[in-house]
Amino acid sequence: MKNLDILRKISQGMYVLTTQNGGCIVDAVSQVSAGDNPLIAVSVMNKNYTNELMKVNDKFALSILDEKVNGEIIKTFGFNSARDINKFEKVKTEEVEGVNIISDSIGYMVCEIIDRIQNDTHTLFIGKLIEADMFKESKEMTYAYYQEHKEDILKVTTENGKTAWVCMACGYVYYGDELPEDFVCPVCGLGKEMFKKKE
Ligand code: FE
Repeated sequence: MKNLDILRKISQGMYVLTTQNGGCIVDAVSQVSAGDNPLIAVSVMNKNYTNELMKVNDKFALSILDEKVNGEIIKTFGFNSARDINKFEKVKTEEVEGVNIISDSIGYMVCEIIDRIQNDTHTLFIGKLIEADMFKESKEMTYAYYQEHKEDILKVTTENGKTAWVCMACGYVYYGDELPEDFVCPVCGLGKEMFKKKE
């Protein structure tokens, strides 16, 4: 028996991971040692461009998002590739230790990469914390909170009187009575099963 529902009981957060020339949204972040130079682990999908960058760069930063974060930040970093757009042109950032961090966040951690462990689908990057600060006191967004409120956070709106199909991952809206066979979301690439009907 392998009931994967139990995995949803692991608390994860919502972060913007940045490194030189790119970044993405991640939820799997953990402090894995204590002391003055704690180690921070972050997992990134192998197919993400950010993963490629993290294999040649020596640093990364994590900006911690709060529950009131502007959904555009999640859209920009979560549903686009830095292969296609310059994410840093669309979101206000500041530079710390040569890495862009997100201004609209609770704060940030900048780490020096000390280890990379590649698995089938993801790479676990381990970094030593070298810089960190807080911008404000605010409630951090958990991944569970995001899942529960993402329609509001991403400000998904649909036109009245039309049948709409909304991608539950990124908020992309398709209009039509039925989704075409083999439909994939043009924004995030996920399949029909991720779409919810709205009338
Ligand atoms: Fe999508």
